[in-house]
Amino acid sequence: MEQLMRDFFLFLAKNKTLTRLAKKYGLRFGAGRFVAGATLESSIAAIKKLNEKGMPVTIDHLGEFVDNEKEAAEMTDHCIQAIKAIAKEKLDSQLSLKMTSMGLDISDELVLRNMRKIMDEATKHNVMITIDMEDYSRCGKTLDIFKQLKKEYDNISTVIQAYLYRSLEDVQALNEYQPFLRLVKGAYKEPAKVAYPEKSDVDKNFERLIETHLLNGNYTAVATHDDEIIRFTKELVDKHSIPYDQFEFQMLYGIRVERQEQLLQEGYKMRIYVPYGNDWYGYFMRRLAERPANVMFVLKGVFGK
Ligand code: FAD
Repeated sequence: MEQLMRDFFLFLAKNKTLTRLAKKYGLRFGAGRFVAGATLESSIAAIKKLNEKGMPVTIDHLGEFVDNEKEAAEMTDHCIQAIKAIAKEKLDSQLSLKMTSMGLDISDELVLRNMRKIMDEATKHNVMITIDMEDYSRCGKTLDIFKQLKKEYDNISTVIQAYLYRSLEDVQALNEYQPFLRLVKGAYKEPAKVAYPEKSDVDKNFERLIETHLLNGNYTAVATHDDEIIRFTKELVDKHSIPYDQFEFQMLYGIRVERQEQLLQEGYKMRIYVPYGNDWYGYFMRRLAERPANVMFVLKGVFGK
């Protein structure tokens, strides 16, 4: 039953008509629990509150699947404005982005051109940019572009998904770039041809990736809400005396807030991923797919408490 619910929400996440409608009608159905605001301006108070608590953030202007040059230019400009706002408001923040928003599906030339504009601005203000990882069909291309940009800029990182069979090889191959990597389980629906279908195998692979990247001496962001993976990371860093400034935990805005604060109190770096923007629908559906229990929360949002 839970698997059916997951598939249903991942199916809904891709629906273009619902995406358009959601944009038009603004943050609804309890999405405000997971999305800081419809604009960056309206999200700044929430970001500052996290920073004041001692939690750095990474902000993400929601949006995916851009299929024309004009929209890709608009999304690129949004990123540039966000970098300027980080600098102006003195936020302790990185920026995460999806390259499909910058034209990844249109052409390599376009996405590289847009990414360089963003990277030039980010370099000027010393802001780290993380390229989120999208579905499997874009993984190889995303890593190729990441490698290209990493040769030109220091302040760029990307994401590796533990559910993909290829990921351990990717982490090893990326080692020569000594990259900052965010490691995650993976949020898209992928076939068994390319991804582990069983959660236990994904978890085992996640642990292998964390161990490999940390022991290779690279900065590692362990992005998870899973206590077992967090416990594994803590034990690994203690066992190998890995300094606390070589890794961080990351969680999503609004998810396991008490756990976030607990990790911070224990002395770990805890970064919060803060999404904002009116294109919230796909992101929200993926969060519901991860944890169908959240549907109850949404139903309360729709029908009242
Ligand atoms: P799970 O096995 O899903 O959950 C473990 C436990 O965490 C659950 O039992 C529950 O107690 C708790 N939990 C999990 N989700 C929720 C929830 N929604 N509400 C309440 N409790 C919950 N995926 C990508 O594919 N590409 C990316 O670029 C990407 N970036 C990410 C960045 C960050 C900072 C984070 C935290 C995740 C990112 N993800 C990304 C999503 C990721 O791949 C997973 O889908 C997501 O984190 C859920 O997996 P989990 O590791 O938390 O463990």
